[in-house]
Amino acid sequence: MFKKLADKIFRKDTPKAASDGFFLNVRCSECQEKFHLFINKSWELMQDFGENGSVTYSLQKEIFGVGCSNRILVKMQFDSRKNLKSRKIENGEFIED
Ligand SMILES: [Zn+2]
Repeated sequence: MFKKLADKIFRKDTPKAASDGFFLNVRCSECQEKFHLFINKSWELMQDFGENGSVTYSLQKEIFGVGCSNRILVKMQFDSRKNLKSRKIENGEFIED
């Protein structure tokens, strides 16, 4: 019976877990190479603890191109529900699509 329940939970959670993220689409400002990275919110966000005990999340990502020495730096801030609040990028730009 326990196994059955575990299967049920696992199946139920699988699609949700897989979609708990977003694509980070950026372009290198040096060579215009495009990057499409999948960010998994469950794994890759860092917890930030506020003074009042609140928890927010942040992401810092360095992206290296294949053919150039440019290093793209992405910084994102999320609220306690992991909704994107703000984002910054250095040496590249965000692609909207
Ligand atoms: Zn580049």
